[in-house]
Amino acid sequence: MTDHRFFVEPEQISDGRVTIRGPQARQICAVLRLQTGDTISALDGSGCCHIARIGSLTRDEVIAEIIETSQADTEARVRLTLAQALAKGHKVEMVVQKATELGISGMVVFASERTIVRPAEDKIRNRLARWRSIAREAAEQSCRAVLPDVDGVIGFDDLVQRVSQFDKAFVAWEKEKGLLLREALKDAETGNRILLIVGPEGGFSEDEVSQAIAAGAVPISLGARTLRTETAAIAGCAIVLHSVEQAVSRNCSGDTKS
Ligand code: SAH
Repeated sequence: MTDHRFFVEPEQISDGRVTIRGPQARQICAVLRLQTGDTISALDGSGCCHIARIGSLTRDEVIAEIIETSQADTEARVRLTLAQALAKGHKVEMVVQKATELGISGMVVFASERTIVRPAEDKIRNRLARWRSIAREAAEQSCRAVLPDVDGVIGFDDLVQRVSQFDKAFVAWEKEKGLLLREALKDAETGNRILLIVGPEGGFSEDEVSQAIAAGAVPISLGARTLRTETAAIAGCAIVLHSVEQAVSRNCSGDTKS
């Protein structure tokens, strides 16, 4: 991958060219001030990285010729979905950004019994758009090959119904003293779909934890200390994704160093 990475829709790639319009074209031309002859990486979201040389550019349209296509190898070996409870202020925004950098495949935001903030429908639509744009920027920045999907805001009952779609589901619960997340992941296999549920500032009610367990989620501990919701989410993602990471270090050009 090159230093300038952009997620594009598959239809933006045709005849060996990438065509970029709208805000991304303005960013390339006016913000990054790239020139004809400079190279960019176009990520089509399927894991393919197209390195392309800019042939023509204006603030409205950038056309680049593809010079190399390869499979990016920056994705995690498991597909982790983070279920994050709505939280106050910009906490969810921060979680979207950090969890995307760490390598989640998707995120779903939910409201539960003790959720403190309850934004109106129209505000939720705006927030969802903002979360998706943060995920895109974070994915581009961190050399991701796949753009995590952000969904929400759903109710806790809906979330519980989704548990069965995963190979493994965990509910982070500060009252769980026996099973650490690290231990619970010991038999995780490549390709597993994993769900990690993190509660709001007010925590889960006992009833909600029972509901999650009945649906097949396993309560896990993130350690002896009670973490804030955003810390729990980021630490939980790091634990899951680090535990399945291959023992190689990579750089953004796709080379692997042993
Ligand atoms: N209000 C609660 C704490 C909520 S912390 C209290 O004061 O007791 C917010 C969320 O972070 C929790 O719902 C849980 O999902 C997660 N969490 C925080 N610390 C945790 C820990 N040590 N182990 C597992 N989950 C934790």
